[in-house]
Amino acid sequence: MTKILHGLAVQSEILARLKPRINKLGRRPGLAVVLVGQNPASEIYVRSKIKACAELGIFSEKISPPETATTEELLAVIHELNGREDIDGILVQMPLPKQVDTRRVLEAVAADKDADGFHPTNVGYLVAGQPAPRSCTPAGIIELLKHYQIPMAGQHAVVLGRSDIVGKPMALMLLQENATVTICHSRTKNLPEICRQADILVAAIGRTAFVTAEHIRPGAVVIDVGINRVTDAAEAARLGRADEFASKGKTVVGDVHPLDAMRVAGAFTPVPGGVGPLTIAMLMANTVELAERHQCSA
Ligand code: NAP
Repeated sequence: MTKILHGLAVQSEILARLKPRINKLGRRPGLAVVLVGQNPASEIYVRSKIKACAELGIFSEKISPPETATTEELLAVIHELNGREDIDGILVQMPLPKQVDTRRVLEAVAADKDADGFHPTNVGYLVAGQPAPRSCTPAGIIELLKHYQIPMAGQHAVVLGRSDIVGKPMALMLLQENATVTICHSRTKNLPEICRQADILVAAIGRTAFVTAEHIRPGAVVIDVGINRVTDAAEAARLGRADEFASKGKTVVGDVHPLDAMRVAGAFTPVPGGVGPLTIAMLMANTVELAERHQCSA
């Protein structure tokens, strides 16, 4: 039987571990969230991040420049936040409007306030295996694998996707856990065959139910990072979500075919309820860690 790997249980554990660390600090950790414009999906993400801060006793501040903000205006916002003593972490909600140079804005965030772990300095620390803020989604997946005592050392991990925020840091973190890692992407040949060699298969490509039974070795651990909205009734039915679709008019599915995963995988993270809750938990963990460093060095 396929074991379901629930993200919420791991999220609770991570947050519970953070509480005594926050209580020990002389001042509440502070997180600034920069949300440019009014993207409805981004607004939902930001709301849940701010709610998580409030529940945990982390100070949060939302800064909302207009959709028309220029790169220079956003750089000024970031520089001001970099200089504030009550702010330990800065998160710039993606995506930024087209006219903005995203790279310049992300690189302007001080490396020691980089709550998302995207700054090149922190990516460098990850490559070197040194402690630093880490990209939240892959860091959460490592916590999930540890929570469920899924061995990584010596296992063949295949990471499907090579984005800077998920695929690449995921591969590096698995390598650090002594897995043997293969990275696949849109130009990879014989993709199903390579995926089928995986003991641990991480799918992060942003394509609805792309990974099917032909990609999964029987008994493999399958981690589904994808978040894809399905708005077609026939497609929802094909993915086993007819009831949810009938009541809500939509459903959210990952990059892995959920019925195939339940049939073939040994363990599987559901969408929703698998990887999603971990990303916010690790954002909180990065913020607390940055606050500890700031207060230690003050
Ligand atoms: P991304 O930046 O669009 O990167 C997608 C990656 O998948 C690229 O490396 C691309 O290859 C590869 N790819 C696309 N189509 C492929 C194909 N047919 N075969 C093989 N590889 C293919 O996406 P991302 O930001 O990493 O996000 C991936 C998914 O995870 C999305 O659904 C996103 O919404 C979700 N996500 C979830 C969370 C969470 O908290 N649960 C967090 C972040 C992202 P190339 O490099 O060759 O183009």
